[in-house]
Amino acid sequence: MVIRSPYPNLDIPEQDVLTYLFASGDSLSENPLWINASSPDIYLSLRTGLQWIKRLALGLDNLGLKRGDVIMIVSSNHIFIPIAYLGAVGSGRIFSGANPSYTADELRFQIQDSGAKLLLVHPTLLDTARKASKAAGVAEDRLYLFSDTEHKPIDGIQDWRTILGNLDDASRYEWPRLSNSESKKQIATVNYSSGTTGLPKGVMITQYNLIANSEQTIFLKNAEKPEFKRTGKYPTADERWIGFLPLYHAYGQLNTMLMAAKLNIPVYIMSIFVYEEMLQVVQKHRITELQVAPPILVLMSKHPATANYDLSSITKIFSGAAPLSQSLQSECTQRFKMSVGQGWGMTEVTCAGLVAPSGIEGNSGSVGVLLPNCEVKLVDENGKEVGMGERGEIYIKGPNVSPGYWKNETATRDTMLEDGWLRSGDVAIIDEKGWFYIVDRLKELIKVSGLQVAPAELEALLLTHPAIADAGVVGVQDSFNAQEYPRAYVLLKRKGAASPEEIQGWIEGKVAKYKHLTGGVVLVDEVPKSAAGKIQRKVLREWAKKDGQLG
Ligand code: AMP
Repeated sequence: MVIRSPYPNLDIPEQDVLTYLFASGDSLSENPLWINASSPDIYLSLRTGLQWIKRLALGLDNLGLKRGDVIMIVSSNHIFIPIAYLGAVGSGRIFSGANPSYTADELRFQIQDSGAKLLLVHPTLLDTARKASKAAGVAEDRLYLFSDTEHKPIDGIQDWRTILGNLDDASRYEWPRLSNSESKKQIATVNYSSGTTGLPKGVMITQYNLIANSEQTIFLKNAEKPEFKRTGKYPTADERWIGFLPLYHAYGQLNTMLMAAKLNIPVYIMSIFVYEEMLQVVQKHRITELQVAPPILVLMSKHPATANYDLSSITKIFSGAAPLSQSLQSECTQRFKMSVGQGWGMTEVTCAGLVAPSGIEGNSGSVGVLLPNCEVKLVDENGKEVGMGERGEIYIKGPNVSPGYWKNETATRDTMLEDGWLRSGDVAIIDEKGWFYIVDRLKELIKVSGLQVAPAELEALLLTHPAIADAGVVGVQDSFNAQEYPRAYVLLKRKGAASPEEIQGWIEGKVAKYKHLTGGVVLVDEVPKSAAGKIQRKVLREWAKKDGQLG
């Protein structure tokens, strides 16, 4: 059974991203759009934003960067990241976001794999980025300091402002206008995801994918609002958002950069997520909507500081990126007297695939309904399509689905099937009203605070430890805290060669914090393998369940 959206198809604009966002030209708004949450006097509007975007685009031309070259940002959030994102994408180049907590080796992998030609690096991350780029063979003169304040050169590395074109030239700059077929081909971003198996891979997202997913999500979030039904216009005039979702990830990119710009909704961008600071920003600026991952809802419901702040301006919380339990959803809805809705998505569908329309999401534990212009089928273990009320893996098709993995045809063939279906690795059921419930995850992926941890990456690393003969990594569930923790089952070369604590400590020196083995290390006599030598993850999951929640 092929499931269609309950809503009619939208006309997706057939153009490039900058035309989509800035087509109104001279009449662009001067209202604050991307605002520094800790110093709100520092902001960019649509008008000044476009000026910066054009100056950067010119600067990239002057450096000799070609269309299709990858520009990588290595930075925590700040208000100029939308400029780098839209400057790169809008000038026909490709944006790739790196997690700022990466170690030099993790960053080296992404630089090499993406083939990045230029890195915009926050000054606090310069040491890591220099090590990584050196190891990846990228010359230091391809690194620029990138923050919201101007910096003097550090060891010859210049501030990114030194490459910008001047205002006069920028006012005459014409970005490459794309026809529909070009915008379907032009890769805009390459963010990293491990997909259904293996190591992180670059996910190609086209300019058309970005426009489509922005249009689909904006529509579905508003579809049931009485004002929209009455006027056909999105009621966004009094909205204020807060931007703490990381801008190197699809979730932050779609909401804080694309949708906020399209709707001209002010976003207070936080560079680092600190819970009490978030509450302060919400109270002070009367934030109307939060876009979160489930662990933030746990903080909101359990942290004592929550009671000290006036959060009454919030009318809507949207949760995505990882499972949100029905009980936590109900608790937050009741406690905060606001609508708490869920969505499901993945980097491979640009960002969102299923969304609960505002106002009718209830406390159901559902991830919502299918976006317009999309189709889903649910497929069982034998490859058979299942019907309503039965469990099946989500296969999804639509204008927001990635055309494939970056320079990785094998992974593309395995995941993006020839007839347009994308295999998600997530298992769902659908009810008679078209609402979806995520009930399992088939793929290896572990989600920690909404971020991806690829077991294959930790396993490969563990195998380089001199005392380890074999290792299998799996997520341990903690539904109370809406969290998963990576746990390793390890076979030592020799009894007593290393302790679980030593192994945990060793990993900590090698990968970003969210990948640490916080679910524990368990020593075993054998890592379960199939006859073909593949780790039997089902068995590991059963072990993790049996061994209890946390190691
Ligand atoms: P990412 O590509 O980092 O956005 O991760 C995508 C994966 O996160 C999905 O394939 C799911 O496994 C998981 N995910 C995202 N949203 C949800 C949700 N609402 N409920 C359960 N899992 C989710």
